[in-house]
Parts: sequence; structure tokens; C-alpha cells
Amino acid sequence: MREYDVAIIGGGIAGLSLAYFLAPHRSVVVIEREEGLGYHSTGRSAAEFVLRYNAPDVCALATISKSFFDNPPEGFSEVALLKQRGGVMIANAEKVDRFEEVLRAEHRANPEIQRLTVDEVIARVPILRPDYVAAAYYDPHFWDIEVENLVQGYVRGARRHGAAIIERSDVLAPRRDGDRWVLMTSAGDVSAQTIVNAAGGWADPVADLFGVAPVGIVPHRRTAITVDLPEGIDALTLPEINEIDEDFYMKPEGGRLLASPADATPCEPADVQPEEIDVAWAAHYIEEATTVPVRRIFKSWAGMRSFSPDKLPVIGFALDRPDFFWLAGQGGYGILTSPALGALAANLVIGATAPEGFDAVGLDLSKFSPARFEK
Ligand SMILES: Cc1cc2nc3c(=O)[nH]c(=O)nc-3n(C[C@H](O)[C@H](O)[C@H](O)COP(=O)(O)OP(=O)(O)OC[C@H]3O[C@@H](n4cnc5c(N)ncnc54)[C@H](O)[C@@H]3O)c2cc1C
Repeated sequence: MREYDVAIIGGGIAGLSLAYFLAPHRSVVVIEREEGLGYHSTGRSAAEFVLRYNAPDVCALATISKSFFDNPPEGFSEVALLKQRGGVMIANAEKVDRFEEVLRAEHRANPEIQRLTVDEVIARVPILRPDYVAAAYYDPHFWDIEVENLVQGYVRGARRHGAAIIERSDVLAPRRDGDRWVLMTSAGDVSAQTIVNAAGGWADPVADLFGVAPVGIVPHRRTAITVDLPEGIDALTLPEINEIDEDFYMKPEGGRLLASPADATPCEPADVQPEEIDVAWAAHYIEEATTVPVRRIFKSWAGMRSFSPDKLPVIGFALDRPDFFWLAGQGGYGILTSPALGALAANLVIGATAPEGFDAVGLDLSKFSPARFEK
């Protein structure tokens, strides 16, 4: 039986980023149910990096992560992990008052944002309908994340430091052997001193398998579709489009237009599939706000965004089980915060203080502790 210090359950961005940062310090095995890493939420995201529009603590995690994305260690990725995209925030005539409120608040925190006239926004985003947009501003702080390169960078780095990654292994019935956990995998039994729960939408059921009380992680289904862009529209330079109340968002994806109705429907953890009604809403918003004809939906998908009750991540050892570590609840920001959260989780697992960057943003780490939900 192979023995490890730490077994990480879940081969999504959470488990893999932790494996990357932890493997230099501990022997690590990542155990993933599916054949293929990042098959669930990680492979279904909109690949957006943004410094704002999330809770302040999440924005702080994004700020810490940005320096990793901008300057990853030598050999991490052959391509830049972030590509500047920029974004426009738009409102229709009914929401102009709301728009002014958001613009005032945003401008205080983000002086680089720029109010645009309708003509100016149409010049920047020629697919927008002039009869839909009544108010707009431009925010340069949106980037596309090269998710596949990020995942592969974490995997390569973790393996280079000896981490094992085992796919096609559903952790179902762990058993105790002295002070260690024994898990059956497709590569034979493995044992570990510490378990990390990086199981995404399945975080609560996985805790239950180890006799740990759930913290209330609830997956929420989100849908996206892609459609062809008209001839002459350059997907490379087209900014992301965000509706002021997040009724929808759109952005280029693989040369096409991705649209999401920003749905957030609580669901059971599963290989979630798009519901017809959500696909129809996505298509409706494209036709309402843009001149892009929806003749054919090229692709539609849905994935889970899994939230804790206060929507902040859950990171730390369970109070009642000092050998069980939570790394869950990354909601709609798990990819963009993965450098900060992976590094933080690794330090907490080895009993070190918070990594570089955390002091500067003044984060109160107790806000992420599972203790806030444990009675
Ligand atoms: C439509 C959509 C758009 C999004 N857009 C963005 C975005 O633009 N930017 C951003 O940062 N984030 C975005 N997100 C959120 C982001 O995708 C998630 O926060 C992130 O992927 C969560 O990663 P994870 O590793 O926790 O979960 P997952 O990627 O789901 O990984 C968890 C893994 O655990 C495995 N597992 C579970 N139980 C077991 C078990 N018992 N045994 C073995 N393995 C198990 C699962 O098979 C799964 O692969 C989006 C999400 C969706 C759905």
C-alpha cells in the first residue's frame, strides 16, 4: 500500500492548485473520480479574471492571485495565463438610475473606469443594439484566463515534486488503520494521515464519508451557450459585456460569443446538464441586447458554482477532526482565486503562516475557517 502525508479528494482547480503548492513540503496524492482532471466545474467556467464585482474578501484574493498569473514561476506555462479583455457594463433605459448608483460607487474604488456615450459603446462593441443600451461604462480590469494552461501548470509542478494523481477513483468507503485513513483507488489502496476535501459540489457528502459534519455547501447550476459571431466582428478585441444587475453576461470564447443568463439554481451535486429554459434565456438576451442572430446554438453547457452559507470559501481543518481539511465553497471565483487559495491552503495544512501577499491586503483568515459553521 502506498503511503502519503496528504490525500486530496477532487482533481479540479482546487485540489490541483493545492497539490502544486503542497507537494514541495509533503507527499501528496490527488484522487479524482472521473477520467480527466477538471471534468466538472473547472472545465465549464467562463474563464474570466476580474479584480472587482465580487465580495471584498474575494477581490482581495483576486489581487493576490494576479501577481501569480502575471509572473508565474519559470516553466509554469508557455503562454501568458491572462489575456487582457476589458469589459463594458451596460444598462437599458429602465435601469439608468441603478447604473448611476453603481457607476458612482465603482468610480470611487476604480478610477480607471470610463463612462461611455451610446455611440462610444457601440464603437467599442459593435454587436450591441443602440436601442437597448441607454448607459455604459468601460472597465479595463477584465481578463481571460487560460484555464487549460493553468490546470496543466499545476499538474506538472505537483508531479515534478512527486505528487501522484489517480483518476477514475471514487472515494466511497474510507477506513481507519491506526492513525491513518485508507482509501481504495483504481491504483490500489493508498493511506494518508491527512484528508483534504476539495470535492467541489460534493464537499458536504465527502465530509459525511469521513464522519465530519457538513458546513452547508450548496451547488448552484449555471448555464452558458456559444453562438457564431457575424462576419467582420473580431472576437479578439471584443470586450466582455455585463448587464448592470448581472441579468446576463457575454464574452468571446473560442472565436464565438458565449452568453450566460447568470442563472444560479440550487441543485444536487451531479454531472449537471443545461435546462432548456436557461438555454432559451441565454439566447433571448443575445437577441435582446445585441444584433447577433441566434441561428444555431453551437454549444450549451451547465456547471456547478458551489457556495457556503455566507458565500465565502471554507478553508481549514475541521474542528472535530484535525486530520480533515476543507478546501471548498469557491462559488463563481474558484479559478481566478486558485493561486491565492491553493497557496493559503498549503500553508495551513503544514501549519505555516499565511503566504506572501496576504498581509498586504489585510485579509482576516478566520472568515474562511470552517469553524464559523461548526457548532
Ligand atoms: C458556467 C460557470 C462559469 C464560471 N465562470 C467562472 C469564471 O469566469 N471565473 C472563475 O474563477 N470561476 C468561474 N466559475 C466557478 C469555477 O468553475 C469553480 O469555482 C471551480 O471550478 C471550482 O473548482 P473545484 O475544484 O472546487 O470543483 P470541481 O472542478 O468540480 O472539482 C471537484 C472534483 O471533485 C471530484 N470528486 C467529488 N467527489 C469525489 C469523490 N467522492 N471521489 C473522488 N473524486 C470526487 C469531482 O469529480 C470533481 O472533479 C464558473 C462556474 C460555472 C459553472
